[in-house]
Amino acid sequence: MTRPLPGSGALGTGTFGAVVVGGGPAGLTAAIALAGAQVPTALIAGRPRPADNRTTALLASSVTALDTLAVWQRCRAQAAPLRVMRIIDDTGRLLRAPEVRFEAAEIGLEAFGYNIDNRHLIAAMAERAREIAALELIAQDAVDISISADAVSITLDDGSRVVAALAVAADGSRSPCRKAAGIETEGWSYPQTALTLTLRHSRPHHDISTEFHRPSGPFTLVPLPGLRSSLVFVTDPDDAARVGALPDDELAAEIEQRAHSILGKIELEPERGVFLLKVERARSLGARRVALVGEAAHVIPPIGAQGLNLGLRDAATIGELVAPAHRAGHDPGADDLISRYVEMRRADVTSRTLAVDLLNRSLLSDFLPLQGVRGLGLTLLQQFGPLRRAAMREGVAPSSAQPRLMRGEAL
Ligand SMILES: Cc1cc2nc3c(=O)[nH]c(=O)nc-3n(C[C@H](O)[C@H](O)[C@H](O)COP(=O)(O)OP(=O)(O)OC[C@H]3O[C@@H](n4cnc5c(N)ncnc54)[C@H](O)[C@@H]3O)c2cc1C
Repeated sequence: MTRPLPGSGALGTGTFGAVVVGGGPAGLTAAIALAGAQVPTALIAGRPRPADNRTTALLASSVTALDTLAVWQRCRAQAAPLRVMRIIDDTGRLLRAPEVRFEAAEIGLEAFGYNIDNRHLIAAMAERAREIAALELIAQDAVDISISADAVSITLDDGSRVVAALAVAADGSRSPCRKAAGIETEGWSYPQTALTLTLRHSRPHHDISTEFHRPSGPFTLVPLPGLRSSLVFVTDPDDAARVGALPDDELAAEIEQRAHSILGKIELEPERGVFLLKVERARSLGARRVALVGEAAHVIPPIGAQGLNLGLRDAATIGELVAPAHRAGHDPGADDLISRYVEMRRADVTSRTLAVDLLNRSLLSDFLPLQGVRGLGLTLLQQFGPLRRAAMREGVAPSSAQPRLMRGEAL
């Protein structure tokens, strides 16, 4: 059975203009962008999964995009501004870098961005998605994806089918849509595990995010509203297993010690997350009527808060290409549109992946010259204002990719 859905036959190539597979933050954003621009869209959001205890540091340009999509207004109160970012060399090595402090005010911004619990962000996106008439929300999994010359056909849990001219694959790192399109991935893993926790603390964070660079990886405290912060604690797998097994009071004491007590006394909120660090990149961000967004396209280590910010730029870019194509009566899954998408996203994804990889390897490496280069880079950033300001501007609004939504322009 094919589901009777709105927009049926509008393009002559399928029941919908677009189908988005995956109801994580990248998929929700793509669906809101497309359907908000009147493209008849289905979001196959999947069966409910356990809640995500992570937080996301959203860069200012991502916040602008979410504001333009009428999402940000719904969760702004649950987000904390990031006004200052500090990097502290805690490696104890011979060649140590000075502390580097980046202040948003130095480049005329109130904040670099905002940190928010993923569950609040996703709830705000889901609320916005439910309002859009051109968006059909489907709480089922895609169990089969088949691609023909003029449509993508997706079979759901209940045996019904969704047909569309374009599939936006937002179905995470294992992406069944990516496999159906025949796109391979390349990548590598690191001898590192990230533990994620949410902390309550006795001293204020003053809207400062602090990244301690330790030999086994960064230990990053990111502000949340009030006397709360999120922690991404990257360490080697043995240490992660030991630390992860500690009872709450012992773990809180260990965190306080590794944080040099800058936030005072620490208490842990209940959930703990564990993530293996890896890079996994699709060899192409699209093919055969399928465009990849978010972790279906790229997984990178949680260093420098890049992952979802990249994913939101993917979603904004596919929206920017498909909305005018739909208005002009063109096929949104046509080869030339997909090729343009792949081209527009290449430099941004490649440069961010390489930068995060280099930073991480420079921490892990025992190779003195590499440690020296890292120390020199951080010293230059600390002492040379124009370079520091250029780095901050690039971090907030990447010159290689500023989709229209990131500039506050509706699609
Ligand atoms: C420790 C950690 C900290 C991070 N911190 C930051 C940060 O501060 N800033 C930042 O920008 N990024 C950060 N990231 C990266 C960010 O979390 C990810 O980029 C983001 O969660 C990926 O979102 P997504 O929507 O692409 O994928 P996911 O959240 O994985 O969503 C994929 C969705 O697809 C669904 N799905 C899968 N298969 C199917 C199917 N067959 N049918 C239907 N649905 C399906 C799944 O259920 C899921 O809901 C961090 C990552 C980690 C590990």
